[in-house]
Amino acid sequence: MSSPPRFALRFHALLSTLVTALIPVSAAAQPVSARAPNELGRIPIVEWHLVADTDGPYRVSRTRFLAELTALHARGYVPIALGDLLAGRIDLPAGKSPVLLTFDDSSPSQFRYLERDGRLVVDSSSALGILEAFLARHPDWSPRAVFCLLPAADAGHAFFGDRGIEGQRTAWRHPKLRHLVARGYELCNHTLWHARLDRSAPALVREQLARGVMAIDSAVPGYPVRALALPYGLWPRERALAVSGAWTPPARRGAPAPAPVRYRHEAVFLVAGGPARSPHDPAFDPLALPRVPLQGGTSLTRTLDALDRPGPGARYVSDGNPATVARPPVGHAPVGHAPARGGAGRGASDRGVSASAGQKR
Ligand SMILES: [Zn+2]
Repeated sequence: MSSPPRFALRFHALLSTLVTALIPVSAAAQPVSARAPNELGRIPIVEWHLVADTDGPYRVSRTRFLAELTALHARGYVPIALGDLLAGRIDLPAGKSPVLLTFDDSSPSQFRYLERDGRLVVDSSSALGILEAFLARHPDWSPRAVFCLLPAADAGHAFFGDRGIEGQRTAWRHPKLRHLVARGYELCNHTLWHARLDRSAPALVREQLARGVMAIDSAVPGYPVRALALPYGLWPRERALAVSGAWTPPARRGAPAPAPVRYRHEAVFLVAGGPARSPHDPAFDPLALPRVPLQGGTSLTRTLDALDRPGPGARYVSDGNPATVARPPVGHAPVGHAPARGGAGRGASDRGVSASAGQKR
């Protein structure tokens, strides 16, 4: 059998190189404009804990964290603010999809300061440093992420580290919160010290949540804390206390009676449950927002692949016009969504979702 001509061999090699290069990115990397708008689709709320040397329970490696940011960007996701999700005000270019980035437990691994010539700089190996460097390379992403904070937990989980843990000074805790807010990031309550709310008496639930809000207010006076991330995803027995309540600090002898500290969360994050519903979906429930935990044993790729499959779990894709709600292609409607104009429940009825497009709020 004679050997094939050199040209054919070379062509074949080139073709297989091309095919190999194309296969892993086929569905994911289709041009953004090729994705049909679907503003009733799902929105991943991704959740990181420690960003460290290796993957494991409640941790991802720094390499993996960067790979996850890169995958989200490559697949047409853009970080949005929690406030925009809650208001249903998602203003993205056509073909782009929203993602909400969240960080729990306020460890130094997420936000470490270094002292350089008398100045504080963000450690480029902390999650914030990695994210900021990524933003500098990708100007189509803005600094949007939600940090769910513990003001007084052990082992450095007190507003990103204290008492010399990982080189972090107690005095840097409040400046770190102000730094985040000034950059456009959002702060969220995660209780005072990661309390098991399911086992706590109602008075302790109120104290944990009110003091979480108070501590953030001490760092950033007047900051509106809009969200709670439930520690371990566990609800207090009196579920309504996760949303709103009040706690009165103990009276001190000779001092006037202290005023109660009130809290009201507009959003409650769970720890898992998959991508969240669109705020335009009548079944959207901001007081039980599922998330996509990223840690050892989980795979962002698997979640993003599922979001790229047609059907009720397909991703939210913007139509580029924040004044209209683009319905998914026929057959893609989310389960439970009323196909007729003005479906029942929260969202559609007051937003006038129509068969083609409706007004957004
Ligand atoms: Zn936590």
